Amino acid sequence: MNATEFRKRGKEAVDAIADYYENLDSMPPMSEVKPGYLYGLMPHEAPEDPESFDGIQKDIKDNIMPGITHWQSGNFFGWYPANSSFPAILGDMYSAMFNVVGFNWICSPAATELETVVMDWVGKLLGLDKRFRAIKDDCTEGSGGGIIQGSASEAHVSAMIAGREMMLAHLHALGMNDEEVDGVWHKFVAYFSDQTHSSGQKATNIIGCRSRSVPSDDNFRLTKKALLAAIEQDRHAGLIPFFVCGTFGTTNTAAIDDIPGIAEVAAANHMWFHVDAAYAGAALSCPEFRPLAHGIERADSFNFNPHKWMLTNFDCSALWVADSKHLVNALSIHRAYLPRVKGATSFAKDYRDWQIPLGRRFRALKLWFVMRMYGASGIRAHIRKHVVSAKWLEEQLLADGRFEIVAPVEFSLVVFRIKPGALSDNSGADGEVANRANADLVKLINTDNRVFLVGTKVKGKDVLRAAIGSAHGNQENVELLFKVVTELTTTIISGRY
Ligand code: PLP
Repeated sequence: MNATEFRKRGKEAVDAIADYYENLDSMPPMSEVKPGYLYGLMPHEAPEDPESFDGIQKDIKDNIMPGITHWQSGNFFGWYPANSSFPAILGDMYSAMFNVVGFNWICSPAATELETVVMDWVGKLLGLDKRFRAIKDDCTEGSGGGIIQGSASEAHVSAMIAGREMMLAHLHALGMNDEEVDGVWHKFVAYFSDQTHSSGQKATNIIGCRSRSVPSDDNFRLTKKALLAAIEQDRHAGLIPFFVCGTFGTTNTAAIDDIPGIAEVAAANHMWFHVDAAYAGAALSCPEFRPLAHGIERADSFNFNPHKWMLTNFDCSALWVADSKHLVNALSIHRAYLPRVKGATSFAKDYRDWQIPLGRRFRALKLWFVMRMYGASGIRAHIRKHVVSAKWLEEQLLADGRFEIVAPVEFSLVVFRIKPGALSDNSGADGEVANRANADLVKLINTDNRVFLVGTKVKGKDVLRAAIGSAHGNQENVELLFKVVTELTTTIISGRY
């Protein structure tokens, strides 16, 4: 394909993308194909000779589209949102144009420096403490800074690696030699709550340390008391606590852990404190949510996903560290073929030292496009719109009388269930009968396929999660969700399904 052909086909592709977004709500949100559907439709060898773009476009329409679950539909309320926006798509197009691999400053100075600038912008937008800034107010280098990673899971591993480095440095400072430190590494323990995202445990699997799941309280929060008790027990057994994750907006219920309490415990025990705010972090762009995040200024690292609820296409996970030295010490490896700028300053970062892979995409572009084309006010309006809709949904569910709200609605996630008392057969009280009815309600909703959501289990209860936040969704979509939920709840209660 030459540039002339690309010009023509590129315009057609942009038209197809715009058409897709204009028609999103007319399609059922969930793909209804069966496993293996595509294998049966595709040739089993790559083509020997070049094929036409027309044929590919036809295949997208006929074969790929039926297998797409439409995450961008306003009627998609599953998991957490994965926002996309036209500015972010344009930013990604420019990123594809340059296709630089910006692991060191020298690889493409603009890629590195724009990331430094934009991450400081976003940090300020969220009201993060100055400790997390790459560049201080006086334009000199800060000890912290932000980096864009691919996912919150990757950020979790990076934070844990930095935490391990910090504890190793601490043990050395206490007078242990290398051999002694090697001898205790297998005793390192990372702490989470039973509500922490699975990425916490995955990170311990990857780095090979112990993982401790601390029971959350009745509001699904990790408390200082429970954390302290677990640490005390482990210390008694000769183990070494080195890392704790506090979540600001858990996956199941958007609960907020006792961030100030965890910060206190972490500091007293020389532990790395990572805040996972993958979903709810975006809400901090609105000052009214910041009191909920009290204590994050004491964290060692903070992560949220602009690719969830801040209008930026996947993948874009923002990780800040208050002091980059531990991360860089752990991940920096020198080779002659990876040249650095001599006397590097904050403006010449080598972000390969802040992440697991070497190569990195120019992801700052899409975030920069979003920040500029929405502005802080546009981002805040986007967040607030969904929070208002979530409150509306909560009120309607409560007013209906057949539902209970399972967790406080702080952001745009509504976790609810049919009350056991509303079921014609409530013989199982809070137990199996209610669980089965709520699990069946999820299945009915998704088979109906006017809207899509997922269920989960919290403290033994089957519940439904309505994650509002689609960049292309509105109040009308939430009203449709309420209509479908109430209609199908009547079906469940009647037992005729
Ligand atoms: N942390 C929380 C609280 C999440 O809700 C999620 C995903 O929903 C993650 C981490 C993982 O995010 P990612 O897919 O970016 O790894």
